[in-house]
Amino acid sequence: MSFTLAIVGRPNVGKSTLFNRLVGKRLALVDDRPGVTRDLREGEARLGDLRFTVIDTAGLEEATDESLQGRMRRLTERAVDMADICLFVVDARTGITPTDEVFAEILRKRARHLILAANKCEGRAAEGGLLEAYGLGLGEPLRLSAEHGEGMPELYSMLQPLADVVTEVDRAAAPDTEVDLDEDETDAPRVPTREKPLQIAVVGRPNAGKSTLVNALLGEDRLLTGPEAGITRDAISVSLDWGEMPVRIFDTAGMRKRAKVTEKLEKLSVSDGLRAVKFAEVVVVLLDAAIPFEQQDLRIAALAEREGRAVVIAVNKWDAEPDKNAKIRELREACERLLPQLRGVPLVTVSAKTGKGLDRLCDAVVSAHDVWNRRVSTSRLNQWLTGMVEAHPPPAPGGRRIKLRYMTQAKTRPPGFVVMCSNPKEMSESYERYLINGLRQDFDMPGTPIRLWMRSQA
Ligand code: GDP
Ligand code: GDP
Repeated sequence: MSFTLAIVGRPNVGKSTLFNRLVGKRLALVDDRPGVTRDLREGEARLGDLRFTVIDTAGLEEATDESLQGRMRRLTERAVDMADICLFVVDARTGITPTDEVFAEILRKRARHLILAANKCEGRAAEGGLLEAYGLGLGEPLRLSAEHGEGMPELYSMLQPLADVVTEVDRAAAPDTEVDLDEDETDAPRVPTREKPLQIAVVGRPNAGKSTLVNALLGEDRLLTGPEAGITRDAISVSLDWGEMPVRIFDTAGMRKRAKVTEKLEKLSVSDGLRAVKFAEVVVVLLDAAIPFEQQDLRIAALAEREGRAVVIAVNKWDAEPDKNAKIRELREACERLLPQLRGVPLVTVSAKTGKGLDRLCDAVVSAHDVWNRRVSTSRLNQWLTGMVEAHPPPAPGGRRIKLRYMTQAKTRPPGFVVMCSNPKEMSESYERYLINGLRQDFDMPGTPIRLWMRSQA
């Protein structure tokens, strides 16, 4: 199993240092390959038990004139298109520069999988830059020190699950994204970016109706007819249009069952569920209306929340439910009580068997995805924060009230906020919960995980 990682970022952030650390002496120059510019270096990397190819845009100088900027962009785009995963490196000591923003823009549009890394994180000089890195909206930055070898275990734990997916999913489901290496360097046409389908995992206990649901969406024959139709023997996802929306649904044991794969189901179900959650944007937790909110259902919903996915709860076999009105009230109540971390999570009743409710489920998935991507402006947030503090002042440990100075949204997918304050270590959990619940309510973000970080001024 192997994949390609591109290390990208502006000059001097430490890309080569990281490249050398990952590759050691196992360097292969790419310029003996036809059509590949010698400005890209390639090497065979090892990290723990992972073996992969690394590409580095070596020897770039900070672009000052137009032509250099164009070259930097072209090289980066080429590296990005060759890669399964991009590691976007910024310098935590100098902070985010306009050139970093340009890179972020390219990567946001183009990278298949993206990991943001803040390098030079050893010592305290990195704090400010690290916070700015949140502001790129590309997720929580991975703290690295390429020079000192810090952050390598964390890099491993981010790559490892992605490695499984890119090797199995992207290659199986999207063989048409191969890049033409022979294209002319000077006038490189833009490689068309894949229209990204919304990534969904359907998870739930055995017999909840996962495969019936996926079949209903897919059309029975497609799932049964094999590779060309969208599911290969080992594929762990299927692509389809759900209404107007292109989606990719990640595997559950049930899908394999229908695809007649002979592997042992019990072995597959747990790890597949976890893996599916990791790579989904929206997780649909499918419950059986007759036995809803069992331990296993709650565990998987909680896991989806911890992983920061948007969550939709679908209650299946609604056709067989005798007292629908009483049941829905009971379900709503149970949901709020048992999953407080996902307050307001959408709850949709469906029948995978009859197809009833599937349109509403689709709408719920789309809107959960929107909420998960939502961005609130800094000015609105700060106005809101003032009101929240007036209504209910923060704790005053040891008689000194914590001051909340400023707040900004650091990321989306899921929404994450940084609050600058005095004495963040003393902030109480209950006050944080007050803020999170307030954000949820006032900015209409039901159901989605919300992250909040309290920080002192760097
Ligand atoms: P590239 O242009 O992005 O490939 O950057 P280089 O790998 O050439 O590194 C640029 C400079 O940053 C060099 O002087 C490195 O020694 C230094 N550098 C790289 N990684 C680190 C790090 O983790 N911490 C610190 N303090 N310096 C680093
Ligand atoms: P999985 O293990 O989660 O993939 O569940 P299956 O899709 O294999 O379904 C388990 C059982 O529940 C099968 O007997 C299905 O026919 C039944 N089932 C699935 N969806 C529905 C539904 O909407 N209504 C009813 N009444 N039965 C369903």
